Amino acid sequence: MDDYINVVETFGCDVFNDAVMQARLPKKVYQELHRTIEEGKELSLEIADVVAHEMKEWAIEKGATHFSHWFQPLTGVTAEKHDAFISAPMENGRVLMTFSGKELIKGEPDASSFPSGGLRATFEARGYTTWDCTSPAFVRHDAAGGTLCIPTAFCSYTGEALDQKTPLLRSMQAVGEQALRLIRLLGNTTSNRVIPSVGAEQEYFLIDRKHYDQRKDLIYTGRTLFGAMPPKGQEMDDHYLGTIRQRVSAYMREVNVECWKLGVTAKTQHNEVAPGQHELAPIYEPVNLAADHNQLMMRILKKVASRHGMRCLLHEKPFAGLNGSGKHNNWSLTTDDGINLLDPGKSPHDNLQFLLVLTCILKAVDEHADLLRESAANVGNDARLGGNEAPPTVISVFLGEQLTDVLDQLINTGTATYSKEGKMLETGVRTLPDFMKDATDRNRTSPFAFTGNKFEFRMVGSRDSISACNVVLNTIAAEAFAEACGRIEVADDVETAVHALIKEYAVAHQRIVFNGNGYAPEWAVEAARRGLPNLPSMVDAIPALTTEKSIALFERFHVFTRTELESRAEIKYEIYSKAINIEAKTMIDIATKQIIPAVVKYTTILADSIRSVRAVSEEIDVSVQTELLTATSELLKQTRTRMKELFDVVSEVGSYPEGQERAVFCRMRLVPAMERLRKPVDELELLVDKEMWPMPSYGDIIFEV
Ligand code: ADP
Ligand code: MG
Repeated sequence: MDDYINVVETFGCDVFNDAVMQARLPKKVYQELHRTIEEGKELSLEIADVVAHEMKEWAIEKGATHFSHWFQPLTGVTAEKHDAFISAPMENGRVLMTFSGKELIKGEPDASSFPSGGLRATFEARGYTTWDCTSPAFVRHDAAGGTLCIPTAFCSYTGEALDQKTPLLRSMQAVGEQALRLIRLLGNTTSNRVIPSVGAEQEYFLIDRKHYDQRKDLIYTGRTLFGAMPPKGQEMDDHYLGTIRQRVSAYMREVNVECWKLGVTAKTQHNEVAPGQHELAPIYEPVNLAADHNQLMMRILKKVASRHGMRCLLHEKPFAGLNGSGKHNNWSLTTDDGINLLDPGKSPHDNLQFLLVLTCILKAVDEHADLLRESAANVGNDARLGGNEAPPTVISVFLGEQLTDVLDQLINTGTATYSKEGKMLETGVRTLPDFMKDATDRNRTSPFAFTGNKFEFRMVGSRDSISACNVVLNTIAAEAFAEACGRIEVADDVETAVHALIKEYAVAHQRIVFNGNGYAPEWAVEAARRGLPNLPSMVDAIPALTTEKSIALFERFHVFTRTELESRAEIKYEIYSKAINIEAKTMIDIATKQIIPAVVKYTTILADSIRSVRAVSEEIDVSVQTELLTATSELLKQTRTRMKELFDVVSEVGSYPEGQERAVFCRMRLVPAMERLRKPVDELELLVDKEMWPMPSYGDIIFEV
């Protein structure tokens, strides 16, 4: 890559963004399209034809040969199917490059194999993709050449959502409408829309390709299933925010450039807590764009790693004993004229609108804590959440000293009269300036933390789409706002009603506020005392999707129907069982074909050594070899026994009906059997000659990048 990079020119150069549309589309068409985007109106085929034509011309100039509807089915990754722009050959044998409005707006991938949770029988498998014109098309360059990608939503023939994006767009609409209704009641006359915005910080691991290739567990499951801790792990904290190694820097540079080309605002990068772990954060934007861009970012992180002889691991817990990776979902509500509803201003105690929005969110999170927890549930996250490195599995809200104090005043006296202010921070060094501290310190352990002018939801898994949690955040906020509006609309005096509501919500939902250490064991006890739900695993969390309370919520705001929710729960159970089964089978495979043979060889060497030494002289001490042989053989036997036990449990899986029952069986029986097998193997790794151990160790993997 060249040394000099013109960031301004590079940014968005492969995106059919507003500037490109304005420059290339006839004025009337541009205006019409803009109206569609701004007001969510339907696009006429006539306009679509013109847009499609220009889009194609532009894409061809960028080197595209194909176009693809790009969508996010419920597999957790993106999907696409490529079509070349070529038309049928003309009489003279030549082809034209064509792309119609119809092809732009609607596609029908034969996508019957995507999970639908029973929404579509395979014989009536029609699924449609439709252009989400609020997310711009882009040309992606890779080994396949250039492809014009059109962000789309994916629905069934009967209109049910089969993807992550459709409910996200629906929830944006719901919260947008209710938030606008609320601020109108409070006197806002200038804003026309309220948009949920998100900045998603992405964590990942980078490892050398040659290590990855030697680990079947990483290849099949994305995480290590065996592995003893090296003498040094992350305890020195010398990796966190440390100097970035040259190889990694070169990688990050290329990742940034690729992101920028596609309009992804890659902004902040640093080393994370675990050796080999890093983070990349973009600048926040409307949540449907943030979700699309996060998918692009994940793909770029992986693709560029391959080019640099590395692998990027996005699994939530690639290495036991080291911090896992997550995604911090920074969420706020902003009006089209730039008012952030979560901005407390200088004196939160007399900012009525802020206090009402805040207490509505407390209410929403308290009442739907189970749903929010569920939205971050995935197989990998089960090993990460609650492990003293990521938020616990109980939802609580961190407000910090200043806001908690304001709420306390409200609860105790009915009104808040002052806000604690930040003090001067004295550095004690004459040449360093003293500066104002924030009114509130940070808290790293809270799942849902207020961080100045936004909420940071920190539970999301590193591989997951951010759509699910934002669907929940948007919808539960919409419900709370709607209820508040209902109450204010029938009140005689708005201000009195608002005061009353703020106090009522603060009192009723103060149990969800927790500013202490979320990793402390006492918190689990205290949370139980407060009656907050604790859903340790994905399997425990999935039922939250289909409670009557949750169905009523989502149906009321047209985000999900009962059928859609039931199908999503079904899909999640299936994904869970399948993933755990693959892990179990991979363990059996590795133990049978790699570990046991290696250990047998090692014991043979020890036995040979004992015999050879004894042959020289009976006087020489062979106790070390003998002890090693005894210990190794004992662990070898345990390994074999536990592997057979695991095998038996795996054979039982099929006898449980697909869905919840099977998932519960996997969770209760398979997972513990896997943990039991892992133990003797990890102990063996510490005993057996390194030369003979069949795969690279944790130490090799995390320190040799
Ligand atoms: P941290 O200290 O946690 O790294 P930053 O302020 O750097 O926090 O922001 C982290 C992420 O939050 C970034 O993606 C940033 O763009 C995003 N962010 C900042 N302000 C907002 C906001 N008002 N709404 C949503 N996201 C925001
Ligand atoms: Mg953060």
